Amino acid sequence: MENNFTQTKKVTFDRNSAVSMNEIAKTVFAPIYPVIARNAISITGIEKGRCLDLGSGPGMLAIAMAVEAPGFEVVALDFNDDAHELAACNIAKAGLGDRIRTISGDVQNIPYEDGQIDLIVSRGSMFFWDDLAGAFRDIWRVLAPGGATYIGGGFGNLMLRDQVIREMAVRDPEWKCYAKKMDDEGLTRFKKMFTEIGCEDYYRIIDDDTGMWVVLRKPERS
Ligand code: SAM
Repeated sequence: MENNFTQTKKVTFDRNSAVSMNEIAKTVFAPIYPVIARNAISITGIEKGRCLDLGSGPGMLAIAMAVEAPGFEVVALDFNDDAHELAACNIAKAGLGDRIRTISGDVQNIPYEDGQIDLIVSRGSMFFWDDLAGAFRDIWRVLAPGGATYIGGGFGNLMLRDQVIREMAVRDPEWKCYAKKMDDEGLTRFKKMFTEIGCEDYYRIIDDDTGMWVVLRKPERS
């Protein structure tokens, strides 16, 4: 599997990028997180247990998951400590400090034992993962039997997508929308990757107005 599949240049995640993502997440992007959280719950049918948000940035999806499903214990993982600091602040302001934990970690080496996570969500992060196959191998490993993923990018629905793209074009003409449509080459690469990981019978790619999402579902213990 090659590197991140839509990126052509390396993106640096530092304090500036964390601050800028925090600002966007709390303004232009703010309405998308509850919609994405509801989509994740309705597509996977999972609304309780441990929910892990990978590449959580300022924590807005983690917050939306906790708000939408009171049965979740949510963990927000990111490798950028500056993002954690901002996420911790947002989580405290939302009054969810007892339901959401922030942890440092890389998606390629998730700090959990096998089979510990019921739902793994992630938005706008997968496109930057250096080793996509390594990340999905670890995601599959930590997923609990019966667990599922909702990992990808997008804005929740067509109206929000158009609204965000319009507003971002005004704010920042350089802004790139990485939530692109999946082409045949991308689909072939995902199929090959999931075959190598051994979960080729358990994945589905959603590519519609909600965005592009990888849904993996681990079978229940037999
Ligand atoms: N998910 C958040 C959102 O939608 O508001 C943040 C999206 S931001 C564009 C991408 C995030 O992914 C950054 O916070 C970055 O630090 C994180 N990230 C990128 N690669 C990562 C990796 N290999 N492990 C953990 N976090 C990663």
